[in-house]
Amino acid sequence: MKGRGEKNPFRKNIEELIEIGDLKGLREKTGEFHGHFCAYSACGVKAGYIALRELGIKNTGMKEFVAIVETDNCFSDGIQVVTGCTFGNRALIFKDYGKTAVTVARRDGVAIRIAINPDFVDSLTEKYPEAWSLFGKIVALREKGTEEEMRKLTQLFTEMSFEMLDVPEDEMFRIERKTIRLPEYAPASHPVFTSTKCSVCGENVLETHARVKGGKAVCIPCSGEE
Ligand SMILES: [Zn+2]
Ligand SMILES: [Zn+2]
Repeated sequence: MKGRGEKNPFRKNIEELIEIGDLKGLREKTGEFHGHFCAYSACGVKAGYIALRELGIKNTGMKEFVAIVETDNCFSDGIQVVTGCTFGNRALIFKDYGKTAVTVARRDGVAIRIAINPDFVDSLTEKYPEAWSLFGKIVALREKGTEEEMRKLTQLFTEMSFEMLDVPEDEMFRIERKTIRLPEYAPASHPVFTSTKCSVCGENVLETHARVKGGKAVCIPCSGEE
């Protein structure tokens, strides 16, 4: 275990970028994780950065705080990279509200909610009509775009992702400080890691997730529940 103030060796590069407020560098890191540059992942980078700064958080990826995202779009990948709160380390909570917003909360309940400003979204749509129509066609509807369209979309999205970094924070977001109650983490030894064997497929399954069928433990897929 490391002490407070020391950097997480696995996230040293990212924490250094956060410390000096290098949003461009964080945008690069997010591109590696997310698979492309785009406006919303850049907004996520920025929201994650603001949250850490405002809550005075230096150690990331150590479960000292959680991020509650309200969407599973590109925005949330920026949040994961910058805050280190991920699906796998259980510091990322997903509320399927369909809103581009995140609440970052320290264990003591001090929290900040950062939501995309609808006026800002309108201005972006007006400014980049081509990007949104291409995005709608190629990404949302999964239609096959021409090579030229793909190239154009990538170029516009990259451009937008850069531009996002310079937008004033209060123009891009609605920011609200709040206090929330966090659910306790389950202690590490408890059901989380206790598995049983499914009597049908033979794979290990968490006891908390096993079902009983004909008096025997089975996993959810084998239980026919789905
Ligand atoms: Zn994206
Ligand atoms: Zn099974």
